[in-house]
Amino acid sequence: MSWEVVIGLEIHTQLATKSKIFSAASTAYGAEPNTQACLVDLGYPGVLPVLNKEVVHMAAMFGLSVNATVAQRSVFARKNYFYPDLPKGYQISQFELPIVEHGELFIADAEGNDKRIGITRAHLEEDAGKSIHEGLDKSSGIDLNRAGTPLLEIVSEPDIRSAKEAVAYMRKIHTIVRYLGISDGNMQEGSFRCDANVSVRPKGQEEFGTRAEIKNLNSFRFVEKAINFEVERQIELIEDGGEVVQETRLYDSDKDETRSMRSKEEANDYRYFPDPDLLPVEITAEYIESVRAELPELPDAKQQRFVAEYELRKDDAAILTSSRPAADYFEAAAAATDAKAQLVANWVVGDLSGALNRDGLNIADSKISAVDLAGLLTRIQDNTISGKIAKQVFEAMWDGEGSADDVIEARGLKQITDTSAIEEVVDRVIEANPGQVAEYKAGKDKLIGFFVGKVMQETRGKANPGQVNQILKAKLSG
Ligand code: ADP
Ligand code: MG
Repeated sequence: MSWEVVIGLEIHTQLATKSKIFSAASTAYGAEPNTQACLVDLGYPGVLPVLNKEVVHMAAMFGLSVNATVAQRSVFARKNYFYPDLPKGYQISQFELPIVEHGELFIADAEGNDKRIGITRAHLEEDAGKSIHEGLDKSSGIDLNRAGTPLLEIVSEPDIRSAKEAVAYMRKIHTIVRYLGISDGNMQEGSFRCDANVSVRPKGQEEFGTRAEIKNLNSFRFVEKAINFEVERQIELIEDGGEVVQETRLYDSDKDETRSMRSKEEANDYRYFPDPDLLPVEITAEYIESVRAELPELPDAKQQRFVAEYELRKDDAAILTSSRPAADYFEAAAAATDAKAQLVANWVVGDLSGALNRDGLNIADSKISAVDLAGLLTRIQDNTISGKIAKQVFEAMWDGEGSADDVIEARGLKQITDTSAIEEVVDRVIEANPGQVAEYKAGKDKLIGFFVGKVMQETRGKANPGQVNQILKAKLSG
């Protein structure tokens, strides 16, 4: 029997506000426990939440970026449950009337074609605190610094058909929220995480199978591995005559498996109801249009423009537009040189990315500025150095030896384009290798590479390769 995988993701994105969603406490990460929790976050009686209007702005930006409807009226609701890290006894979220509905985005499927993934909704909510078990003797601690941190929960339609598509979708959302500047997307710090709903059904069957929900995946790699494990588990279970039960599961990355956490029967009934402490959120059509007007160029549009305007290869355009700093770096470099934009792209995607990875740096902290890289590429373009020597110059620039021109000057790397100088070396090489010359003249054309290599060796790579070829061929056939 052949199976089809069905996946829907719920992504929790922490919004990059300075203060919390309903209080003035700071959202900065990493502070001493409970130093950033005010009376509202602690759930004291008598306090009242006040909505941070920045989160409405951010949610609207997101909604418009995924072609969704931004609701002019949305309502906060109480989701009731008991947990030590939730002192109020309820989480403020949105339920029946979320701020964003009916969106979509496009990912590349296995064949590289555009595939639409529907976005059911995105709603605003507050994060809970967290329990701390490590380093405490026979007791647990509660840290409420995270309580009240604003989250945007983005829920997809069950349109995803493989672990790879799930990762592509999640990456796309990650790119969009960072482009918009509404989240830092830091996955180690938990600012961007997802729950994956996974089911399988026999190919051709209309009805969905029963799903399991894998909670709290905080890396793209874990999303892929957890889904793949879960799919295998469900298929094996059904083929052995068993049944998938609807439940919440946890992914254990050490063992690379998912484990049952709680079944649907034990699940909470949240008794949602509108929060009487908060007014409905009402925004005008003009407000929504003003948000649309200030949206930055988004990843898809930028990628298409890079292909159209700079004539880049599509895959390079995709890599360069996967983050705004990378795209900005490329554009700044391309603007500062006459070298072909594709050459600029090759260097940014190739040597520069390699050096950044090696040193664990972000492109914004690159040791070679966009303008300095452009300076190097200009020297390839005007034949001062070859592409091969340029790699050496690049490394020296990376190590702080100055601009391309500084390095070329200090190391004497200027390309030899003086014809008579090259001819001199060519003559010497021909004289020293009579055997190869005879073979070449007898028709072994491939030996031209051997002669070019010798000339390059003698000039330490500095002879202009085009001229070397030309002069060699002329002299050898003479
Ligand atoms: P809940 O209210 O239990 O969270 P929802 O209906 O809101 O359930 O769905 C949550 C997520 O699960 C959505 O992303 C949705 O696309 C996905 N989903 C729903 N049914 C299935 C299914 N049978 N298989 C896989 N994913 C599913
Ligand atoms: Mg859910």
